[in-house]
Amino acid sequence: MQTIVPDSVPLSLAAPSTPKKSGRAHYYPSVTDEQWNDWKWQFRNRVTTLDELAKFLPIPAGEWDMKRSVLKDFRMGITPYYLSLVDADDKDDPILKQVGPTVEEYVYRDLGEEDPLGEENYSPVPGITHRYPDRVLMVISNSCAIYCRYCTRKRIMYEDAVPDIEIDRMVEYIAKTPAVRDVVVSGGDPLTYGTKKLESILSKLRAIPHLEIIRIGSRVPVSLPQRIDDELIEMLQKYHPLWINVHFNHPSELTPDAAKACDKLLRAGIPLNNQAVLLRGVNDDLATIKGLLHGLMKMRVRPYYLYQCDQIRGGEHFRTSIQKGIEIMEGLRGHTSGLAIPTYVIDGPGGGGKIPVGPNYLLHYDPKKKKAILRNFQGRIFEYSEPQGRAALVAKANRLTKDGEVKPTAGPKSRTNGANGHANGNGNGHADGKAVVGKSGWVHRGHSREERLSAATDKTPKA
Ligand code: SF4
Repeated sequence: MQTIVPDSVPLSLAAPSTPKKSGRAHYYPSVTDEQWNDWKWQFRNRVTTLDELAKFLPIPAGEWDMKRSVLKDFRMGITPYYLSLVDADDKDDPILKQVGPTVEEYVYRDLGEEDPLGEENYSPVPGITHRYPDRVLMVISNSCAIYCRYCTRKRIMYEDAVPDIEIDRMVEYIAKTPAVRDVVVSGGDPLTYGTKKLESILSKLRAIPHLEIIRIGSRVPVSLPQRIDDELIEMLQKYHPLWINVHFNHPSELTPDAAKACDKLLRAGIPLNNQAVLLRGVNDDLATIKGLLHGLMKMRVRPYYLYQCDQIRGGEHFRTSIQKGIEIMEGLRGHTSGLAIPTYVIDGPGGGGKIPVGPNYLLHYDPKKKKAILRNFQGRIFEYSEPQGRAALVAKANRLTKDGEVKPTAGPKSRTNGANGHANGNGNGHADGKAVVGKSGWVHRGHSREERLSAATDKTPKA
């Protein structure tokens, strides 16, 4: 049979000589649809040991001991779905790098911090971080569908659930702190809980009158999209206003399954914001980040933050220079839709909060002369003059009046000393016709609205 290749499809893509070693058919050929689409099956069948991983992807003989040692420090978890995104032929695969233990993690095991953001220092009760005045972080779970090797909260990742009594104390803290109007429910991953358990927590939070917004931080739409089932959707939409922060890092994660999961959440009225992390060897180039952002936009997921990787212990090899992040941001502004551009932030080590960084477009600013020198995305230079201020406008207006440029008028005949006490009837002029500056900053010259309208009518071409 003849194969028809559309003109627009590169031949290399249309007819690969050897099929890619990835996908469900490659890794899990005998798994049924029923199993594959069941999030609990996916969760139970996560790859958690080196022996299991080696059945799918070869581990060089010299790396076993180092990787074993790494896993004693920080567990591994890879859902079959997420593993299916790995290209087995690519030794630098960006998906595997995020979740598979590496030699670098062993080599750099002593660099970095256990708690790089000092979350424990801002914790009034276990599980709560109260760093910003009106919002708190609430860590309700110690487990995730996948374990990202660069995770900032490696220190809490155990499979034991957070005890209910601890969660109740977190809710109590929020209830007795009226300043808190926004909570980020995170972990671990809250969506790894069963729907009933999650609902019991959300319902308690929603009962707090001063709590306006509930946000959930979850990587499940990326790592276990099967979890976004109808039962979960039905439950979540009872607790609006509810937002979800997702965490896609690479275009290869933007699969039809992930898009479907996001679509379900969005149709339930839950806005989705993406928080990506800039990771060396995974997404630290403009083309990859652009592909990610454009793909997110197509899925209606708003690119929210691009994080500089935290100084987490064992994560040194993931960190890029700040210059690299700035270069990427420079390549975005003006070169793609503003809506697609996230804020590039560094989380202040030890608890400084998010600090935005980026290219400098304001080259010079002179507050005395009220001038700014700016550059645009093409490097062209522009001078912007700031408004002169109210005092200068009043002075100029009075000078114009004195010079006779502004003709004194008696104001409107019909509304002298109207209800607002101003002779000209518009609240801005004076009975002597002197020009003044109105609230809007425009110079009014003592003409009434009727006079201006009549002048405008006179200028209208006659039919
Ligand atoms: S899913 Fe999030 S919380 Fe869990 S390991 Fe990855 S980055 Fe950490």
